[in-house]
Amino acid sequence: MGLTGIMIYKMLPQTNCKECGDPTCLAFAMKLAAGKAELSACPYVSEEAKAKLSEASAPPIRVTTLGQGDSAHKMGGETVKFRHEKTFVNPTGIAVAVTNKTGAAVVDAELALLNEMGFERVGLVLKPNLVFVWDENKDEASFVALAGKVAGATEKGIILSSENSASLKAAAAKLGGKKFAIHPVTAANADDLLAFCKEKGCVPVVQGTDLDALSAMGEKVIAAGLKEAILDTGFKGFRETLTDNIGIRRAALDKKVRSLGFPTIAFPCAMTDHKELQAAYAAALTGKYAGIVVLGTLDPAMAMPLLVNRLNIYTDPQRPMTMDQGIYDLNNPGPDSPVIITTNFALTYFVVAAEVEASRVPTHLLIMDTEGMSVLTAWSAGKFVADAMAPFVKKSGIAEKVNHKKIIIPGYVAQLSGEFEEELGEGYEVLIGPREAADLPKYLKEYK
Ligand code: SF4
Repeated sequence: MGLTGIMIYKMLPQTNCKECGDPTCLAFAMKLAAGKAELSACPYVSEEAKAKLSEASAPPIRVTTLGQGDSAHKMGGETVKFRHEKTFVNPTGIAVAVTNKTGAAVVDAELALLNEMGFERVGLVLKPNLVFVWDENKDEASFVALAGKVAGATEKGIILSSENSASLKAAAAKLGGKKFAIHPVTAANADDLLAFCKEKGCVPVVQGTDLDALSAMGEKVIAAGLKEAILDTGFKGFRETLTDNIGIRRAALDKKVRSLGFPTIAFPCAMTDHKELQAAYAAALTGKYAGIVVLGTLDPAMAMPLLVNRLNIYTDPQRPMTMDQGIYDLNNPGPDSPVIITTNFALTYFVVAAEVEASRVPTHLLIMDTEGMSVLTAWSAGKFVADAMAPFVKKSGIAEKVNHKKIIIPGYVAQLSGEFEEELGEGYEVLIGPREAADLPKYLKEYK
């Protein structure tokens, strides 16, 4: 169990100086206990208290990282049960299972998808993250060969899985200096494999068939002095796995059970052979609350919706995705090219930019900072209005790029055209563009 707010309060200076941003030391202590504040926010904590509080101030679900360099993927670190409370921070790792039972061609195809898949959406590239290397045949030689092949093929995180500890160790020897995990670490092999993890710097995936058994395994991880681990409740059906994941999250956050404060792994690949159903299970488990979902294939028809679903779940609902304010030149525009102004809501930008690019009409796109609001929202909030837009246009530098003074506004805010023209001053002409971005290509082709 973690420390309570009162226990933490007794270790704080109790001067209520407010420098941490909270009105009292007690308020700060309560936030710290709930995992909603950082100990470093108080500059006056003694070294002795810091040592004692470090456990309490660690995130209730510890962060675990697998993979190398740009392919390293963090899991865990969550502090809330519902994304509207704050936000989820480290997206569920999407993993593909490869085994020594399937043929080499299947393994090669999945590894190629793992390495090459990248869907671009709202300026981000969405990718799968991990590979689960399974000794399905219970055959050490082919398992070790498979591990070596995977290690040579990808920098993404690797989870080795075998019921045979000797096979796990032999396969681990093929991974060079890579950061990897081993599965399953059970009550029977824990002493041996936790010591191995400590020596090699790898991550144990500890297994317990119910939450009590899993918590006991988490205790062993903590007692071994390991900071990273992954929790597994075994190959179960969807309903049981979902229930386990919810129970683990609740125990870690509400009851501060440190031994369950690690990211989890779930196996939609073992729940069904039906690809679409597997994707649906993985989508639900991404929301509640798997740290990793293991799929049987990265077939793009299955992986893409999962990647987009994950993006939606792990986007901060209180902070809209935004673009930087400025001029975006599309299709190599020149001084005669049209100028369109719109807001910096990322979705607005990408929808408009995609249509402009599709039109092939060279265009300057002026993106104005409206705190990530879309056109109508920004207009009704007084952020995309004539007396704010005109100063932005004048300071944007667009006058140096074009030889005309025409500016196209979104059709949804046609009503501000007159006032905008007045604010811009003599010579400016405000044109009313289409309401829908889909109508931009036709509009731009007819622009004079
Ligand atoms: S900064 Fe430290 S001493 Fe000051 S109010 Fe916050 S917790 Fe108390």
